[in-house]
Amino acid sequence: MAAPFDLSGRIALVTGANTGIGQGIAVALAAAGADIAAVGRSPAEQTAALVQATGRRCLLVPADLSSIAPIQPAVDRVIAELGGLDILVNNAGIIRRADSVAFTEADWDAVIDTNLKALFFLCQAAGRHMIARHAAGGGRGKIINIASMLSFQGGIRVPSYTAAKSGVAGLTRLLANEWAAQGVNVNAIAPGYIETNNTAALQADATRNRQILERIPEGRWGRPEDIGGAAVFLASAAADYVQGHILAVDGGWLAR
Ligand code: NDP
Repeated sequence: MAAPFDLSGRIALVTGANTGIGQGIAVALAAAGADIAAVGRSPAEQTAALVQATGRRCLLVPADLSSIAPIQPAVDRVIAELGGLDILVNNAGIIRRADSVAFTEADWDAVIDTNLKALFFLCQAAGRHMIARHAAGGGRGKIINIASMLSFQGGIRVPSYTAAKSGVAGLTRLLANEWAAQGVNVNAIAPGYIETNNTAALQADATRNRQILERIPEGRWGRPEDIGGAAVFLASAAADYVQGHILAVDGGWLAR
């Protein structure tokens, strides 16, 4: 009998896998047995080396997800070159900070386009493949969207980010409703404060860092591998009956 979290023979597409949480997820999925397609803007050679060190394949697919034009070609390439697509992880994301009274249309559009619009059309492109394959007698597809604490909370000075991440939670539930009966699991992970380039300024600010640590019951920042473990669970057969769930991996932040 296969181990519960075994991903041997599975093919995973991870966006924004060159760094941070995306890299942590790609390496964790590979360690569980999956081949990886790293789809993103910057080269992901370091991730490729880490994936290959586990014995798995890593295909690098350049794509700027600020528009949806590269999405279908990228998904088609992954299917053609790796032989299928079993797991989609929508991780790529950006943030823009400014007071709502001064927030610009450019900062609104940039965040919504990458964090929400590209995410939906990646789900669509992958979902079509997964649904058709399941209808033909193939296995289940797994979609994992990276949400945020701001899928549940308001935050401050990040209006487009909060709108996008709330939208990610809603879309995750909608797609789970539509696709559960067609062999696709759609879930999300909501990371708390995770050590990445994205949060480097917060970590470097001694006052903010202390306030954050005091507020996290675990008393430490999360690491990309903490999110990787949750992704392995949601991608695996152990989570076949989990649908439309937003899994907080936040050291207890939301429990306070
Ligand atoms: P990073 O900034 O380290 O990584 C973001 C990734 O998204 C990078 O790979 C980046 O590529 C990619 N990306 C951004 N814009 C585009 C684009 N237009 N096209 C393709 N790829 C793009 O951030 P994190 O690892 O911290 O964040 C990863 C995800 O986790 C995001 O969705 C974020 O919102 C979410 N998150 C993070 C938290 C944290 O505390 N760190 C908390 C909650 C959620 P490139 O290097 O080329 O810019």
